[in-house]
Amino acid sequence: MESINPTCSAPGSHTIFAKIPPYLHEHPRECPRWTMPISRLLTEVTGLDSSEADGLPQKICVVCISYLKHAYTFRRQAIDNVAALLAARYLVTRRAVPFQKNLDKQQLMQTG
Ligand SMILES: [Zn+2]
Repeated sequence: MESINPTCSAPGSHTIFAKIPPYLHEHPRECPRWTMPISRLLTEVTGLDSSEADGLPQKICVVCISYLKHAYTFRRQAIDNVAALLAARYLVTRRAVPFQKNLDKQQLMQTG
């Protein structure tokens, strides 16, 4: 039971309380991005906190680590992108307000 993977029920090989081992990254330069324990990445991606996983197996397989990396990367990318789009929209809206006021004044002068 302890060696079974909680995420896919295949045999797990890596403890979820350590960070992803460097040899599971495609390139050593990825290592600084993955300093969090696997359990924390699982929590962020699944929304399940560690207390909910209490009593469940605590080892994960290499395939699931790969899925986890993709899921985490996708989640971060989507959140960062939405945040950037909202910030850009906010800036555009703020810039449009004084412009709109000037336009209204001009229209008033033309019609009045
Ligand atoms: Zn697995």
